Amino acid sequence: MGLVDTEGLILKSYSLAEADKIVVLLTQNEGLVRGVAKGAKRLKSKFGGGLEPFSIVQISYFQKEERELVSIRQIDLLKSYFDNASQPRFLQKFSYLVELLVEFAPPHDPNERLYRMTKVCLETAAENPDSLESIALYFELWILRLGGYLPNWNNCNNCKRELEQNENSGLQINFHLVCNNCQKSRNNWIISPEQRQIFITAQKVSPTKFVEFTKNYQKGVKEVSIILRRIISNILGKETVGEKILTASSKL
Ligand SMILES: [Zn+2]
Repeated sequence: MGLVDTEGLILKSYSLAEADKIVVLLTQNEGLVRGVAKGAKRLKSKFGGGLEPFSIVQISYFQKEERELVSIRQIDLLKSYFDNASQPRFLQKFSYLVELLVEFAPPHDPNERLYRMTKVCLETAAENPDSLESIALYFELWILRLGGYLPNWNNCNNCKRELEQNENSGLQINFHLVCNNCQKSRNNWIISPEQRQIFITAQKVSPTKFVEFTKNYQKGVKEVSIILRRIISNILGKETVGEKILTASSKL
């Protein structure tokens, strides 16, 4: 493969040897990449502040075939989110989202839409620090959608009829919806028109517009997020997906 030059987002970095670091990045052109930054822990490292989590960088690295770890040559900082990352709520939320990303994005599998979505969520969260819950929902939903896992909440999964705007629907065990007529059990989890609207709107608009849209629906955002996390838990085969639990169990 040789030398690769691409934009990327630093997800995390950790110590390797005395002077070196391993850096995990989501790159624009090459997907998830793990690389060694030699000498990164030295005081006068050539990488400077470019290895801080959530930094947008231009990176060049050398890749040998059959090797997962690449060798990082140069990193130039394009944009830093250091100030945001020093806020505990922001850090906690994005650490959780990064774990999701690492779980869902296969290494060296380019996905430019995933990169752009992640970057724009980060930008939007930095501009709207009070809207972290909405951004997280947006991110969870798009990670599922880009992976092909998102259920269709426009139609009844049984009779295929398009659900009406003000109609309650029932959540099935496979996370699809059934209309009122098709509901066999009255014990189904009911999805309200508001919850469905949040779910559908997130697929149609930018994170900025979504933040705007959900300003008055914070309860609905929490409820839909719970369902998305159940879907994610199912896919990952973990019992619960939550910010602390997932971070604690993260494998590097
Ligand atoms: Zn139906």
